Amino acid sequence: SCTLRIRSNGVGATARQVSNTIMNVQNNTVKKLLEKYREIALLNEIISTLHWDLNVNLPRKGSEQRSHQITYLTSLITDKWIDPEIKFLLDECNSIEKLTQEEKAIVRNLNRAAKFYFQVPKKLILEQSEITSRAFVIWSEAKVNNDFKSFEPILSKIVDLTRSVADYLGYKENPYDALLDLYEPDLTAAQCRTIFEKVQPSLTQLLQKVIKSKSYNKANPLLDSQKEYALDLQKKLCDFISTKLHYSYDEGRLDISSHPFTTTLGRHDVRITTRYDRHDFKEALYSTIHEIGHALYELGIDKHYSGTPLEGGVSLGIHESQSRFWENQVGRSREFVSYIEPILSTLFQTEFQNVDQDMILRYVNDVRQSYIRTEADEVTYGLHIILRFQIENDLMNKKIQTKNLPEVWNVMMKKYIGVVPPTDREGVLQDVHWSMGSIGYFPTYLLGNLYAAQFTASMKKKISFEKTIAKGDLLPILNWLRTNVHTHGSMLFPKDLIKQVTGEALNADYYLEYLQKKYSTIYNL
Ligand code: MG
Repeated sequence: SCTLRIRSNGVGATARQVSNTIMNVQNNTVKKLLEKYREIALLNEIISTLHWDLNVNLPRKGSEQRSHQITYLTSLITDKWIDPEIKFLLDECNSIEKLTQEEKAIVRNLNRAAKFYFQVPKKLILEQSEITSRAFVIWSEAKVNNDFKSFEPILSKIVDLTRSVADYLGYKENPYDALLDLYEPDLTAAQCRTIFEKVQPSLTQLLQKVIKSKSYNKANPLLDSQKEYALDLQKKLCDFISTKLHYSYDEGRLDISSHPFTTTLGRHDVRITTRYDRHDFKEALYSTIHEIGHALYELGIDKHYSGTPLEGGVSLGIHESQSRFWENQVGRSREFVSYIEPILSTLFQTEFQNVDQDMILRYVNDVRQSYIRTEADEVTYGLHIILRFQIENDLMNKKIQTKNLPEVWNVMMKKYIGVVPPTDREGVLQDVHWSMGSIGYFPTYLLGNLYAAQFTASMKKKISFEKTIAKGDLLPILNWLRTNVHTHGSMLFPKDLIKQVTGEALNADYYLEYLQKKYSTIYNL
């Protein structure tokens, strides 16, 4: 489901306490930089707390004042980044030759983060923030009214502003590169295109095979939308899943919000949300597993990195690999389904009468020619992303205009998925991202799936993956992730991390083979 992580650089408790537990840094200039950064990290933590409360608890009439509070803190953070002292210290660090590996990574990450504030004028940052907060409301209404024309003028403005941001950030050949790099360090549009051009035909072909198979849309009692799953029992199921996945409420919380998300409020405070559908148990089950995957990553990072630029996951793509790993590689596997089947049948006795493991497996891996990305199965999900990647790339390179988006959208839907959404609400208006100015974000969702499959293939060389899942003993799997992926935080860039963990660069074959094998079995291809 849709997950916009609210990024933060959380540190725990007070600045004083943090300074006692911080990693050992020798170089005095780096030390001074870390002290400056710690104030920014604390402000980010406060913003995350306000965002969490906004999404989970806020009374309807409280939103205006909350937006003033967040805007004020955002402006304070901008001022802290453009403080000449930070630039001075960074320049000095950049000329020091003898730094430890960790000190080098700290300086590298600060250079990257500060680049945005040094190069993009504050006026533009604030203009973008003001326009996108207005655009969110306009988009919400346009979506309800299925009225793209009312959203188009402000979307066009956002695209222009985002292009200016790209120009200020700088790029070699493609303005879209500057934006992709904000979400996935060093990623370029050309790299994305190479990967996606390989993935798209395979996915479209696999989808066609599934649709033509005899098992497609086969009768399944779980597809009956009249079924009701009591909400308190669904909550019990989610709590059980938290325990099973070793996500402890001593370091987190599970609440409800309209769009599930994970947020880091402090080194021992990583919270998740989920949403419940009274007629569909899989909504809350898989949203919860997905968000726990994000939370386990944040909680597994070396605690010495807290309050430094090495805290937090390294990129959105690697972050998404951790949520998709637990949701799909584990949660939608035959072995996991066989493990939770008795639990489901005990909790929801009436609804699971005459339901066997195969039916559950098919239900949670049901392939459809979907219109909506967040409801898409594993086979079509990537196609929804590739469509968005191509549109964003064309918008940034002025090859298409915002006024033509509904038409462009529908043509690509027909080509890749074979269906055309009946309304713009189910088409070009479905996602919140562009209204927020988050252009360049979408590709990380697909990269996450690709990384997850590649990590799984490596893990299987060390762990008897299927057996341990069937037993419901997930600790060996979590420990592998902690040691190989989580603990490093933002020390290694994504391309170095994937190389170190799997011995090779990102390779889409692992994902394509995984899908081919899994769906051939489920649909008897
Ligand atoms: Mg996610």
